[in-house]
Amino acid sequence: MEDCKFYELLLDLPFLSVSSVSFDSDKLVVTCHSQLGEGICPCCKKKTTKVNQRYHRSVSDLPISGRSVVLNLEVRQFICLDCNRTFSERFDFVSESTNTTHHRRSGCLCFAKTTY
Ligand SMILES: [Zn+2]
Repeated sequence: MEDCKFYELLLDLPFLSVSSVSFDSDKLVVTCHSQLGEGICPCCKKKTTKVNQRYHRSVSDLPISGRSVVLNLEVRQFICLDCNRTFSERFDFVSESTNTTHHRRSGCLCFAKTTY
């Protein structure tokens, strides 16, 4: 468990708990989930804790010591009890269009600026 805490500090992503870490050939796979207990409905803005299902999503983060880092992120799909809609939780640190963390995007931009 101390390893998980170490990776939470290393990744420095808000409200994220690391469940496990594994090495898969040349990449580090970090399984993690949100520390937040509730979701906010995007339609009516009400809070809900009712989870419909969970699924995993792969998100690329900055490499560590030349090794790729992939977050195996557990995503909860909530049900809004007021308007009865389902919605998936969002993570502020993930760029939805590229499936990468903002760390990774800004790191790539920095690398591109210094390289070219
Ligand atoms: Zn709602």
